[in-house]
Amino acid sequence: LHGPYDPDNIFARILRGDIPSVTVWEDDHVRVFMDVFPQSEGHMLVISKTSQARNLLEVEPDTLDRVMRAVHRTARAAEKALKPEGISIMQFNGEAGGQTVFHLHFHIIPRWSDRPMKG
Ligand code: 5GP
Repeated sequence: LHGPYDPDNIFARILRGDIPSVTVWEDDHVRVFMDVFPQSEGHMLVISKTSQARNLLEVEPDTLDRVMRAVHRTARAAEKALKPEGISIMQFNGEAGGQTVFHLHFHIIPRWSDRPMKG
């Protein structure tokens, strides 16, 4: 779970503007954007714009603080805007842990009991 950061991973390319994405909110440190293969209406991803941590095991605490505050803010905004019945916050570490993009990220997935999660 520790190793070199690939500067050409998809989220790094999104941050560079090489791949288009729909930004929901950002500041100097974090970006929130829409997942292009959403598992529910409003599925968003939260990432650091500055850290080269690939996962939660590698991340430095100051970055984690900023990312988690953005997760919290985004979950609250999703609650207000979409009125879901639940919100799943998900995060995967390593290929065996279900991770496919190796730039630390948190999923924010609004949930409704009558709409099972896709994917
Ligand atoms: P992981 O399994 O690594 O936690 O999730 C990676 C997420 O990135 C997936 O939910 C996937 O749909 C999303 N994703 C993959 N490629 C792109 C892309 O090019 N743009 C956006 N916005 N999301 C992507």
